[in-house]
Amino acid sequence: MEFVILAVVIALVAVGAISGLVVSSRKKKQLPPTAPPSTPTITAPPAEPQVGEDAAETAQEPRRTIEEVGLPEAPAAPVVVGEPVAPQAPAIEVPEPTAGRLVRLRARLARSQNSLGKGLLTLLSREHLDEDTWEEIEDTLLTADVGVAPTQELVDRLRERVKVLGTRTPEDLRTLLREELLTLLGTDFDREVKTEGGETVPGVVMVVGVNGTGKTTTTGKLARVLVADGKSVVLGAADTFRAAAADQLQTWGERVGARTVRGPEGGDPASIAFDAVKEGIAEGADVVLIDTAGRLHTKTGLMDELGKVKRVVEKHGPLDEILLVLDATTGQNGLVQARVFAEVVDITGIVLTKLDGTAKGGIVIAVQRELGVPVKLVGLGEGADDLAPFEPEAFVDALIGE
Ligand code: GDP
Repeated sequence: MEFVILAVVIALVAVGAISGLVVSSRKKKQLPPTAPPSTPTITAPPAEPQVGEDAAETAQEPRRTIEEVGLPEAPAAPVVVGEPVAPQAPAIEVPEPTAGRLVRLRARLARSQNSLGKGLLTLLSREHLDEDTWEEIEDTLLTADVGVAPTQELVDRLRERVKVLGTRTPEDLRTLLREELLTLLGTDFDREVKTEGGETVPGVVMVVGVNGTGKTTTTGKLARVLVADGKSVVLGAADTFRAAAADQLQTWGERVGARTVRGPEGGDPASIAFDAVKEGIAEGADVVLIDTAGRLHTKTGLMDELGKVKRVVEKHGPLDEILLVLDATTGQNGLVQARVFAEVVDITGIVLTKLDGTAKGGIVIAVQRELGVPVKLVGLGEGADDLAPFEPEAFVDALIGE
């Protein structure tokens, strides 16, 4: 009996111990992980970095395939014959052809200019073209920076033609507006950028304008336009006023394999321009593009600086073009700049930049009227090939839709 009681007691104790273990193990699972024991345990080094370790020290390079890594380099074998191997030059880009660029970039114009063209068409389509409507048409044109005189001319012409037309279909109106806008823009201007030069002298183009208008960028993009058209180019970084301008221009040049002549910061722009043309002659280049500084500090200062650059360059031969760069988003302010520059040098063409960022495309008409010289190129974005030869037809089609 005593033996039986003892066995039962032992059995009860054993059951209690086992169930205690199970409960405590369940409890453990619910507890947050405990801190590691304070005494270190020696383990093998982990394959992966652990939380809390210095990732920088332990981070391992991602595994790369042999193709990615390449085979180990063989020791350079001595070159026995032939030319020494030249260090690798940066890859030269092939710019996009210039023909049809404006058509490609037309969507950018249409986006920003819709209000002008579509606004005019909507107004002209009203059943009764009363005085209020004509005033609205006038306001639309003035708001788009077309300028007072051209606006008046256009409204007068439209009034006359609409009267003659009698009933107006949307198609009639579109054709009429298209024709009249083209007349205002002028279809018989010569808009080609001249780069003929002389027999032994390259074509020389001077780029002028107020800093910030996109002058250096335009000079770089123009180099690409010329290279795309098969010409060789030398760049002259005569904007020594803005610290980064020469570096910026050189980068543009390197991309298309054009050499840049530059001087020290704050150096004499005229001597850099002179040297650039000299380099162009030595290289037998087709065109030399000269970027100039456009500080409008005083008109006399500007005149002295640009006048000197021009005179010095002309010691080599006549200039082919003086292009004025204007920022289309500056509206009336741009026209004031145009006037000042035109008094200082003989502008032969206008480059309107940032036309992608304004709904005021009328500035094209106003500035041509102001200076009596054509818009030759337009900037439609910050991309390298976003400078397009200006084509009035493509421009008007973008304004009013086809
Ligand atoms: P600079 O001081 O006149 O030489 O001006 P930059 O050539 O340095 O250009 C000023 C800024 O205008 C730069 O950020 C250019 O990328 C930008 N820019 C130039 N042309 C255009 C253009 O046609 N469209 C747009 N959106 N930006 C332009």
